[in-house]
Amino acid sequence: MILEVENIAYSYTNKNFVFKSVSFNLSPGEVISIVGPSGTGKSTLLKCIAGLIQLDEGKVLIEGSQVPEAKNMLIPGHPEVALVNQLFELDDYFTVRENISNQLHHLPLAERFEFTDELLDIFELEDLAHKKSKDISGGEQQRLSMACALAKEPRCLLLDEPFAHLDVHLNKKIGEYIRRLANLRQMGVVLVTHDGTEALAWSDRILVMSNGEVFSEYTPFQAYHEPKTFFEGSFFGELNKINLDGKQLLFRPTEYSLTPDHNKIEIQLEWKYSSFRGPYYANYFESKGGEEVVLYANKELIPTNVVYV
Ligand code: ADP
Ligand code: MG
Repeated sequence: MILEVENIAYSYTNKNFVFKSVSFNLSPGEVISIVGPSGTGKSTLLKCIAGLIQLDEGKVLIEGSQVPEAKNMLIPGHPEVALVNQLFELDDYFTVRENISNQLHHLPLAERFEFTDELLDIFELEDLAHKKSKDISGGEQQRLSMACALAKEPRCLLLDEPFAHLDVHLNKKIGEYIRRLANLRQMGVVLVTHDGTEALAWSDRILVMSNGEVFSEYTPFQAYHEPKTFFEGSFFGELNKINLDGKQLLFRPTEYSLTPDHNKIEIQLEWKYSSFRGPYYANYFESKGGEEVVLYANKELIPTNVVYV
């Protein structure tokens, strides 16, 4: 195992736990996402795993060796763990290029140049390579700090909302690169995000954190198609909820049929409006019980008044 998190708990103030009884493992080459609303303790959890703040209970192991307790350390943390969060730890008076290459002293010179160039290219920092890191924008600093974290070649990479300020094309490029490096180096990656669609795209497993104690574990497919609750399912895209004789029916906007199907439930609907989304139309309806229902289709479903789910 790259990472073993065993029953950890943390509180900023006595007895008021941010999270409790959190356990999970991470295998070599695996990318795991932790998804939850803002304020649930995701950033705190990553700091705990990195050994930057002192756990109240439990322990964290990196490749079998325990992350030292923050209270016993002059400089807290574990050498094989890199955390990228909103607090950029860059060397202000070094250039962008130097910030990266300074992390690469473990490599022979030629490889150091090559890897620095690769990271400058992937993170689209080539044109800024000779600027001091204090003289680039916040978004560029975020990219640079992710590049520096990858340069360290940690066994375990912790990313706190890494895509929050990235353009769509960079999001895809960097997501793919991180997946490729995880696989190539058999590094473990923990990705924290409030946006479940990022988790669907980039991870092998997803943990949903909803109130510090409850974690559900899903594959991306399960998180999308088989969520246990409406609350959890709604992180991963639009989700319909209909009450049928006291039972709740959850289904995605693509999980329906317009032709009668004996294995499915018939639902009467009234069309309200359609919204063009580029690749599809989102058609909004009202059910007999007054619930909003959205169905995706390649056209406006104006005449539709019954679907099979
Ligand atoms: P998330 O990353 O999921 O948005 P955080 O880990 O940042 O959540 O915060 C979890 C909870 O802990 C929040 O209620 C937040 O207000 C609180 N918190 C965060 N940092 C501190 C701090 N330094 N002192 C006290 N409470 C904090
Ligand atoms: Mg956070």
